[in-house]
Amino acid sequence: MGPVKCQSCRSLCEVTRIAPLADEAETAFGVTWRCASCAEEFIDICPLGPLVPGPGLCLNCGVSLVDDCCMDCGMSAGDAELFFGLWDIPENDPVGYAVNLLNLGRARRALAVLNTHLLSAPEDADAWMAKSEFLRQLGFADARLQMLRGATAAGAPAALLISCGIALFERGQFEEAMQAYRDYLDREPSGEWRAVAMGNLGNAAKSLDRFELAETMYQRAIDLAPSETAFYLNYIRLVREDAVLALELIEGALEQHPTPEMRSLLLEEKSFIYAEQQNGLQALAAAEAAFLLSSSITARYLKGRALALLGRLDEARQEMNAVLANDPGNVDAARAIKMLTDGLGKGLFGAN
Ligand SMILES: [Zn+2]
Ligand SMILES: [Zn+2]
Repeated sequence: MGPVKCQSCRSLCEVTRIAPLADEAETAFGVTWRCASCAEEFIDICPLGPLVPGPGLCLNCGVSLVDDCCMDCGMSAGDAELFFGLWDIPENDPVGYAVNLLNLGRARRALAVLNTHLLSAPEDADAWMAKSEFLRQLGFADARLQMLRGATAAGAPAALLISCGIALFERGQFEEAMQAYRDYLDREPSGEWRAVAMGNLGNAAKSLDRFELAETMYQRAIDLAPSETAFYLNYIRLVREDAVLALELIEGALEQHPTPEMRSLLLEEKSFIYAEQQNGLQALAAAEAAFLLSSSITARYLKGRALALLGRLDEARQEMNAVLANDPGNVDAARAIKMLTDGLGKGLFGAN
């Protein structure tokens, strides 16, 4: 696979687009090449190759070889090596080499390089992640998941189970996501990702309404990694009804020097909880502090809500109007303005 030349004028071509094919099967993708001199375009249809490479699989199309011959493309293992130019892969950094090929649009060769490398070094997480990222960009969610699931069985590091869990969670497969995190914790009980596995397991459990398990997992994640304030935030959102616990968690998280963005999210939670308790002054202080940090729409809404609680209805209406100006579809702000206009501001806000 040398430089690609234009079929009309033989000038060099460059890649302009890598995209799924119209039939939407996640077994091949299209690479669009464009001639630098005559602007002619053509599409190279590329098989995805093996998701989890194995010695008996065609490097080009991923199907099983029969007597060292692919029944789909007709290549032997030696043919594929020649076709993809695999004799000159730099030994010191094959993954960096492949990523560079991917950036140049040479996806098909990049995949062949990564798959060849993974055959002898399945423990190289970076190589799996480079494939995973390529599949994610293509929008091949099924193929990506299949690869991540097969990778650990093929010798990939257990850490890939975390990526697998996240992919499953994103698809709403919460039970399977929980299992992926459990598998990770079984395989590496003191691994570097265990706090993340527990926190994510908590999120999956929460999505399945298994609140006690979620709480236990958040607590354990925080114990393991007290400075990771994202774990607190998920925990706080789970136990909002329990104001004492939630406020205690917020203070604990704020003591960990979170990023301004995270600090703002924590202060928004604080404002929300105080507003639920009809404590307008505390709710306003927290919302103002959050708004100073992030100028977020939520902080602004919470400011308006706190002002309404304090009976400062004109200011409350101003804040809500500002929210709507930034976010015309904000139903909460629209409802708030209606209540304020109807003169129901203070009372109804409290009972929210
Ligand atoms: Zn041309
Ligand atoms: Zn083949």
